[in-house]
Amino acid sequence: MGRITLHQGDITKDAEADAIVNAANSSLLGGGGVDGAIHRAAGPELVAECRNLGGCKTGDAKLTGAGNLPVRHVIHAVGPVWRGGENREPDLLASCYRRAIELAAEAGDTRVAFPAISTGVYSYPLDDAARVAIDATREALEAHPGVEEARFWLFDDRAMRAFEAAL
Ligand code: ADP
Repeated sequence: MGRITLHQGDITKDAEADAIVNAANSSLLGGGGVDGAIHRAAGPELVAECRNLGGCKTGDAKLTGAGNLPVRHVIHAVGPVWRGGENREPDLLASCYRRAIELAAEAGDTRVAFPAISTGVYSYPLDDAARVAIDATREALEAHPGVEEARFWLFDDRAMRAFEAAL
């Protein structure tokens, strides 16, 4: 089964991944946080490609090229906005990781970089999000042996500690 590794810093600097997962919003037309960083690093080609996709539902993901990023693909996953936890947030968050790994497997991407989806502007509590992310990723890696590594990029110490605990 593929392995899960943890890294601290800026996901856009990962040149060892084949695909970078974006914590996108449903328009897929760019936003703040990691989405803004990915679009800035990728250049205008990325948003041009995203315009043809017609958006993306919460819990789902779509794959594009990567513009100027040093990887093959960007996988745009739309996490849930945290609304107290009774609105299928855990299912929808798990689904993002599952769909991203499915798409990576289909595209032949063996190493996939992930941010902590929904834990920024979308306010998903970090410890809960980390557990959901790690559990869903483990299951998806088991189902898709072609994906050899899920590389989690944690932006700060708090996120790193939460993912270490979940792992
Ligand atoms: P969401 O809207 O899904 O909450 P955000 O981009 O606001 O997405 O935040 C998701 C996580 O990504 C947060 O933990 C945030 O600290 C982190 N983050 C922001 N910029 C970067 C980056 N360049 N690389 C990796 N993680 C980042």
